[in-house]
Amino acid sequence: MTPAAVPEAVPVLQPAPAGAPVTQDLHTIPRRLPEGGRPNLVGMTREAMRAALIAAGTPERQAKMRANQLWQWVYHWGVRDFDAMTNLAKDYRALLAGHFDIALPQIVTRQLSDDGTRKYLVRIEGGHEVEVVYIPESDRGTLCISSQVGCTLNCSFCHTGTQKLVRNLTTAEIVGQIMLVRDDLGEWPVPGAPKVETRLLSNIVLMGMGEPLYNFESVRDAMLIAMDGEGIALSRRRITLSTSGVVPEIHRAATEIGCQLAVSLHATTDAVRDVLVPINRKWNIQTLLDTIRDYPRLSNSERVTFEYVMLDGVNDSDEDARRLVRLIRGIPAKINLIPFNEWPGAPYRRSPPARIQAFADIVYKAGYASPIRTPRGEDIMAACGQLKSASERARRARPAVAAPLA
Ligand code: SAH
Ligand code: SF4
Repeated sequence: MTPAAVPEAVPVLQPAPAGAPVTQDLHTIPRRLPEGGRPNLVGMTREAMRAALIAAGTPERQAKMRANQLWQWVYHWGVRDFDAMTNLAKDYRALLAGHFDIALPQIVTRQLSDDGTRKYLVRIEGGHEVEVVYIPESDRGTLCISSQVGCTLNCSFCHTGTQKLVRNLTTAEIVGQIMLVRDDLGEWPVPGAPKVETRLLSNIVLMGMGEPLYNFESVRDAMLIAMDGEGIALSRRRITLSTSGVVPEIHRAATEIGCQLAVSLHATTDAVRDVLVPINRKWNIQTLLDTIRDYPRLSNSERVTFEYVMLDGVNDSDEDARRLVRLIRGIPAKINLIPFNEWPGAPYRRSPPARIQAFADIVYKAGYASPIRTPRGEDIMAACGQLKSASERARRARPAVAAPLA
């Protein structure tokens, strides 16, 4: 798949002409989460949907079947209009329309990078904003979603970490990020049409803003919807949750979600990790690694990914690389080396390419895949760890009243 494969039904996503501003304002899209009012079906688990249908007057003996039908319309077919739900009686559709909304967060702006990466600024209830990044590659399309507005942790190299936590996202807001990008890509399945083998949105990474394991229940429920065969139907092998190392929740992630795990290691000594990833003072490297050892077995996944940001002169020596492979010995793993993405005022510099390569070679020779992540969407500040500045810039540039919610 290439960016050129993006369906033509997305007219506003043409690359901006040279010199033109790349931000496109989509205020007119009338999709939003309801402020108060009727319950939103988006975000409901099957059980919650069943209970809501009973509360709205559905006879109890029918509720399970109706919930299953509605579930498919909402999460599998992406239908927002009750009238299009043709296997439900007209009266019943009217009853549903009177009781429920099917609403997604609102896309406020969308930016297109030279490399095809798309960054969406998404408005959620309360006027807050989160960023969602879509990264097309030749054989897949990865969506990087957020779990919180801001973050309570303050990793010293991460721009999101300089922003205080505003709040956890709800299940609706997390799964809604996936759904609105499917809308934008025009790739909801069509009843009766042959199944598409390679999806435009084929992978999800919880690597946007926030620490997913500090918003466990909402993240879990959203990922269970994403993985449900009658829902968004993405394999759990195509969903990766990235954590800074919230040790007590890692077992739960394995047994209650079962997706792939990425761990932000970033250092090989506690002294350095205490500074880079301060949660290390609570759960140090040894405690973290002991917990991770069980993850593949508990979650039935092949291996875990360690993320390692390359910071010039801080954590990038040959000695660090050797210590890293000693530390993780016995854990089936791959090491993602992430060239540091700079942001204004960042206290670090990216390691030079030759240093990153030398580090990668040592890890590779020790038997671990050690891909160097190509920064994507840097021109629109969409790369890992850059996700604070853009929304703040946009917020400053736009008067607060510029995006009416209706
Ligand atoms: N809170 C979670 C997930 C979000 S951060 C976590 O920390 O794992 C996703 C990844 O981006 C993490 O590995 C994080 O360490 C990395 N990251 C943060 N800031 C970065 C930056 N400026 N450059 C490169 N990677 C960064
Ligand atoms: Fe939070 Fe992750 Fe950034 Fe650390 S790296 S501040 S945990 S978002």
